Amino acid sequence: MKKRIYLLYGGKSAEHEVSIRTAFSVICALDFTKYEVTPVYITKDGNWMKRDVLKEPPKTMDELERQLNRDVNGLIEIMRDIAQAKENGEQLPILFPLLHGTNGEDGTVQGLFEILNIPFVGNGVLASAAGMDKVIMKNLFAQAGLPQVKYVSFNRFEWEKNEDGAYDEVEKKIGYPCFVKPANLGSSVGISKCQSREQLQKAFREAFQFDRKIIIEQGVEAREIEIGLLGNESPECSVAGEIIPKAEFYDYKAKYEDGNTALVIPADIPNETYERVKEIALKAFKVLDCSGLVRADFFLTKNGEVLINEINTMPGFTPVSMYPLLWKHTGIDYPELIDKLIEFGCEQYREKE
Ligand code: ATP
Ligand code: MG
Ligand code: MG
Ligand code: MG
Repeated sequence: MKKRIYLLYGGKSAEHEVSIRTAFSVICALDFTKYEVTPVYITKDGNWMKRDVLKEPPKTMDELERQLNRDVNGLIEIMRDIAQAKENGEQLPILFPLLHGTNGEDGTVQGLFEILNIPFVGNGVLASAAGMDKVIMKNLFAQAGLPQVKYVSFNRFEWEKNEDGAYDEVEKKIGYPCFVKPANLGSSVGISKCQSREQLQKAFREAFQFDRKIIIEQGVEAREIEIGLLGNESPECSVAGEIIPKAEFYDYKAKYEDGNTALVIPADIPNETYERVKEIALKAFKVLDCSGLVRADFFLTKNGEVLINEINTMPGFTPVSMYPLLWKHTGIDYPELIDKLIEFGCEQYREKE
């Protein structure tokens, strides 16, 4: 019997369009003799639209769009399907969220999966939520003794009460250059690099447009190294990759618009540096209680120090994104990577039973 997959994509997030592209790539890579694929498109307003089972992969993204049944309340239908499968003692479908950011990568949709009590691909509630919030993530890394840059955090209330006090604190504890970021975002949205008090003021205002909490980090001059992890209890590590942005830093434009950024895989780093990256990445995976997949991002300073910047619990997943490319160079191509993620999702569910 074919394995049933519900592929969730779109979503209420700034990364909506990227997610549609990802879904198209994933569907085209799935083996239709092995899987029965049902796309579930989530609109920007957060409405779920379940489609009919696909007979064959769509030829274009437009075709995927056209087949949408816009009248159906997909979430209720999915719940009904699951209840029926349980009642009939059938194999449960697996949910595969190809969603980034809010409501996709932050633990909220994973909470729904937990309540539905069905298998799903990727990280659970805790890892997703902790990984999405840079302050919580860094606090947990600090507690585990992982090397990272200095940081401070403010919420909007604290800042509004005493703006100059906040800037004074940043200058005293962090200094320049520093990076100001919304606590809960990705794709470099709302992030600024600051060299002066004036820029700091502007950066605070910018970041607070996206979140009620922000983080300010010491800016380091460093190479940017990333690594992929795959698995549950004992995840495997991919080769390392390096990002060489042409811009001042790896900002939103460099990620999605310029196409100017070079990805070097495998990264040209000494073996002992690679070993250190792996060691820290595996600890970070454990500390945040991750499962399925993670992309861990690092800084490699001039004197060879490895600092963890962040982990991403639902990294970019088009065939030309860093995470799949890292695995390709490690010997696992895109279709096989997808198979493995589905298998790890099923395994994680069995563990909980
Ligand atoms: P994504 O999830 O897409 O990887 P993000 O929005 O979570 O990105 P970060 O990875 O934290 O953001 O930062 C984006 C980029 O900004 C980094 O790739 C790096 O180029 C630069 N950067 C961020 N923090 C620092 C820092 N402390 N020192 C130097 N550069 C930094
Ligand atoms: Mg991130
Ligand atoms: Mg992200
Ligand atoms: Mg990053």
